[in-house]
This record gives sequence, structure tokens and C-alpha cells, in this order.
Amino acid sequence: MRASSLLQPRPEGLYCPPGDFFIDPVRPVKRALITHGHSDHARSGHAHVMATRETLDIMRLRYGEDFASQTQEARLGETLAINEVRISFHPAGHVLGSAQIAVEHGGTRIVASGDYKRSEDPTCLAFETVPCDVFISEATFALPVFRHPPARDEMRKLLDSVAQFPERTHLIGAYALGKAQRVIALIRKLGYDEPIFIHGALIRLCDYYRERGLDLGQLLPATQDSASKSDFAGKIVVGPPSAFADRWARRFPDPVTAFASGWMRVRQRVRQRGVELPLIISDHCDWDELTQTIRETGASELWVTHGREEALLRWSELNGLKARPLHLVGYEDEAE
Ligand SMILES: [Zn+2]
Repeated sequence: MRASSLLQPRPEGLYCPPGDFFIDPVRPVKRALITHGHSDHARSGHAHVMATRETLDIMRLRYGEDFASQTQEARLGETLAINEVRISFHPAGHVLGSAQIAVEHGGTRIVASGDYKRSEDPTCLAFETVPCDVFISEATFALPVFRHPPARDEMRKLLDSVAQFPERTHLIGAYALGKAQRVIALIRKLGYDEPIFIHGALIRLCDYYRERGLDLGQLLPATQDSASKSDFAGKIVVGPPSAFADRWARRFPDPVTAFASGWMRVRQRVRQRGVELPLIISDHCDWDELTQTIRETGASELWVTHGREEALLRWSELNGLKARPLHLVGYEDEAE
């Protein structure tokens, strides 16, 4: 079967005509297969949703019990048929529950990887390479200038700064799903066992990660109005980046503002956001990880979804791979 007949871009998202389902649709559809819980991939309002248990739970936490009329749990590595199309879910290493979706029919296998990464993350299963004919890749950091340093080294920078400025609060901006828990887990791995304070917007997801067996150590709410400024001296506080502009951020003494994001590689973004301590920690692949992964899948064809497509398309051409951009709309850097 021609790959373009097996999966094709539609305004709603990536559609499989023989299976009559969409992957990560951005509009409500009859049947959706969802790669992970970030809000640009997992939306509410579909009739039937198939996803890993964690992704279903995360959608329930964010959208409420009635986020879909019907749900079906996908077990990693298990093959199922939807109208004769064989599908399976495999770890993507992006956030808890994240999966790549392999779609196979008529001797052709396409892997839609959603968002993925290869670097260390104690909070989710590591990316698994799935051999395929066509690999679909995101391109958030698909430029050779993007090379993420080891996440551990970035967190060490943070702890050095905490030791250096015991009178200041370290305020870390990290997105609520995935990044915040990864940052906390990495801090713990480096042996920091003081309580870590979290913004109210992170509580439910941190609780859920703990429920799924992740040790985040002692977390305390950073939202009590009764606390005085000095209570937070020398402490680490994690919150969503959006909270930094709020009154909430003003309760901390002379804060060192840090932001955990792959974009912290770009000086202009660091300046724009007024970040004092940039932490280059990404839940997406850098250039080397992208090209390494594409090679490992053995795919002869690459389809590129959201992000910067041109460099990957050019790289594919130079490396003898057929490549095309899918021009899917509705996916953002939100989760980064
Ligand atoms: Zn994502």
C-alpha cells in the first residue's frame, strides 16, 4: 500500500482512511489515537479516544471525566486491528505516558512519533526505536545549532547557584506536564533533599506522577498567603512560566529567575523573558538526536510535522531519504 494512502494530512489532523481514525486531531473527530497528554495533541471532545493509560488519566485530570464519549487503553507493544489496519503504541520518551503510534497495512508501516526525545528523563519510559518504512518526526529543534547539553549538568548549575545565593529564592519556570516533574526528579537525583515548593497549578499533575510511582521527594505548596518572604530564602520554587508575571512571583525574596526549556539555547529568548539563569532542558530531540533517530528507524522516507522543517528536509535529501513536510497546523511549542 502507498504510504500516502495509509496516512494523510487533513484539516482535523493526520488521518488513516483504511482505519478511519485520526492521530492527535486538533478538532473533534469520531475516533482519535492520542500520542500524549500535552494540550496541543490531546484535545477534548472526540467520540472515541485510544491512548496509553497515563495519557487517558492526564486527559481526565485536565478536561474532566467527560473528555470523550468512550475511551480505550492502549498497552505498549501490543498490536491491535482497527478495520484491518494494525496499530501499536511504543514509548516516546517525551512525558509520562507518551507514545509513538505505529500504523501498518498492506506491507507498509508508518510510525507517527508525536513528540519525542532521547535524553535522560527519570519520569518516563525511554524512547524505543521501531523499524518502519516511513517515520513521521516533529521538528521543534531541527536546526544544527540546537544541541542540548546533558540535563544533569544544567541542574547542577542550578544547585551551584542555590549554594552561592542562600538568601535568594530560585524560581524555576517549567511547564506543568512533564517538564516540572522532570526538573524536580533530576534535582532529587543530584541529592537535593530539602522540600521543593510548587505553584498550585502543578499540584494535580505532580500528585499523579507520584501515584504512578515516581519519587519527587517532599513537595510543599508555594501558594500560602500567610508565608512571609523570608520563608522562601534559599529555597527552590517551581511554577508554570505563565505565573512569573503574576503577583504570585512577587512574594519571593530577590528571586533568581530560571527557566527550563530547550529555547534557553537562544540568547534572545533568554533576554526577552528576563531570565537570569537559563536551564537548557528540553523534552524534544536536538538536531543530533533527530538525525540519529531517523537513521535508526531504517525508514526510507521521512515526513516532517510541526516545527522547522527545511533543515531536516535538506538533510534527508543529502542522506538519500525521500522527505516531505506535512504542514499540519495547530501544534505549538506550548509544552516546551
Ligand atoms: Zn508534547
